[in-house]
Amino acid sequence: MAVLERFAGKRITVLGAGVSGVSLACFARRKGAQVFVTEQKTLSESTKALFFREGISWEEGHSERACACDELLLSSGVSPKAPLVEHALSLNIRVTGELDAVAPFLRGRLVAITGSNGKSTTVSLLGHLLRGVGRNVVVAGNIGLPLGDIADVEYDDVVMELSSFQLHWTKNIAVHLGIITNLDPDHLDWHGSFEKYVQAKFRLFDLLTDGGALIGQERERVLYRTHERMPTVPFAWEDSKELERVVFFEKESCFLRQGDERMFLFDRRIVPIPGKHNAENAAMAMAAAVLLGECPECLTEGLKTFRSLPHRCEIIATIDGVEYVDDSKGTNVAATVTALTSLEKPKIVILGGQGKGESYGGLAEAVRDHAERAVVMGSEREHICRALDEVGYDKYERAADMEAALMISRSLARPGMMVLLSPACTSWDAYSNYKERGEHFRRIVQGFQART
Ligand code: ADP
Repeated sequence: MAVLERFAGKRITVLGAGVSGVSLACFARRKGAQVFVTEQKTLSESTKALFFREGISWEEGHSERACACDELLLSSGVSPKAPLVEHALSLNIRVTGELDAVAPFLRGRLVAITGSNGKSTTVSLLGHLLRGVGRNVVVAGNIGLPLGDIADVEYDDVVMELSSFQLHWTKNIAVHLGIITNLDPDHLDWHGSFEKYVQAKFRLFDLLTDGGALIGQERERVLYRTHERMPTVPFAWEDSKELERVVFFEKESCFLRQGDERMFLFDRRIVPIPGKHNAENAAMAMAAAVLLGECPECLTEGLKTFRSLPHRCEIIATIDGVEYVDDSKGTNVAATVTALTSLEKPKIVILGGQGKGESYGGLAEAVRDHAERAVVMGSEREHICRALDEVGYDKYERAADMEAALMISRSLARPGMMVLLSPACTSWDAYSNYKERGEHFRRIVQGFQART
């Protein structure tokens, strides 16, 4: 079917009116569809006004009307088990994910980055590196612009952050280069199992163009092998003769080796974002830019000038010799374990929020080994406390909320220490998102600062 006719005159329902759904609805409307948006929650007045202007109709709460359509488009994050999706499929209505809907209209070389942690950092860094060498780059997907907004706009490169949810629904897109930053349990409630979550991430292999490289973690080779996949360019902390191509560190230097040819990428000491995990993110982003044809020396300035994204191991203030660090984006166990193990100071860690069905055994071990004290809050509090008990760690306190957690942390902290908010959980028990939680942390810390 000709691309232009794809949506013209069709009755399209868009499921979800979050950022990606609104963008998708406006995109389908621009393509000449009759668009209806169905959203369980209440729509904001500004969204209603936008829909009114664009000639898009909507409902709050799902009714039969939602399935009176030729095709159902899903905004980012919609589960295949959502009743409306199941109902549409039972009626033989075509169901399409956000990325597949927009893919034929994306202009530019496509790079897709996924993984359990480090996606946003790696996407932003790669975008920054490519912009630094003069390319017209857009960063899109879960970060930056929603996909519907970038349809039909000419770019040199489209660097996309893709979640496992988006990948689950994606079949028809040709990606020039992929990165899977790492694979740890996440969103198990959505996928049903780690196995299925990994399968969704590995869809990225099927989306690569011929010869398109995929950068992934060498240390996760067992997981890759189980799924009969292998990154074409693995990242490893050291070189290995067994690998034909590899990005690796030798002391402070990062190299890309392809066969016998070894290319120096950068010196780790110039990476401006803290922690071993960010050295990995930098290695992957630099290797990607080089595999896309840029020269390492031309990228160095971009690497030096990159600034960390908010709420990712972000230093907020130092008060009475104590550093306060906002890692509110640490929303799963793996992210918090990384923050605990890769940030160097003695730490008081603030944990807890809403769970995602993960086990806290690994978290408890990392807390035992890397935190002087822990303060636990949120709806997962008792689960986490139980896991800490199980590893014999009793240096924790319970807190009712963020204010209490910070008051307790402040009273426990000594000069030279760090108070680290890295909850290992989502924020949805008390906030609308991790940003709001991080902002709350920042405001309270700034309040401490004002009173010193
Ligand atoms: P994502 O977009 O995948 O959630 P971010 O770049 O926003 O990832 O980082 C979120 C958190 O994940 C960070 O605050 C940090 O605690 C952790 N993190 C970042 N990079 C890595 C990495 N390479 N490996 C493990 N954890 C990481």
